[in-house]
Amino acid sequence: MRVKLSQNFYLDEFTRSQTAARFGIDNSAPPAPSIRLMRLCRNLLQPLRNEIGPIHISSGYRSPALNKKIGGSKNSQHPLGLAADITATGKTPHQLAACIHARGGYDQLILEFGEWVHVSIPEKGGIARGEILTAVKVPRPFRKPKTVYVPGLLSQEDALKIALKKSQGGAA
Ligand SMILES: [Zn+2]
Repeated sequence: MRVKLSQNFYLDEFTRSQTAARFGIDNSAPPAPSIRLMRLCRNLLQPLRNEIGPIHISSGYRSPALNKKIGGSKNSQHPLGLAADITATGKTPHQLAACIHARGGYDQLILEFGEWVHVSIPEKGGIARGEILTAVKVPRPFRKPKTVYVPGLLSQEDALKIALKKSQGGAA
């Protein structure tokens, strides 16, 4: 039986992971993260869904083992069940991020590489930071591109310009 988190969201949408399946990593959510995911749905994702239509979860909960495997940040809100990476039918990721920003109530909102949106809520009783960022990959000669987070909701082109200026020691 599927565990329902809110009217249109189910727990399995937040725990499925191709990487976990491929490497045999257990990514089932313990009770505490599951309860946070329910809050994420009821406070943010479901009201958003009611406004704009279907939302696809590309990554929700990440067990500590899965987070490590995919090279996620140690401070990631995914293993806590406080964050989800999402896209929406009929909206560009940029438009989706703008909708979430307009609604407010988020802790962190990141437009990631123009491809998807990372959104989180604060811990229960915590204050939502309302931090909005655009992630961009900055090419480097002979090295892997570096991920840079630029404040604000920007096009990849504009975010890259700012990131490059920063990395060259310019004022930013
Ligand atoms: Zn994320």
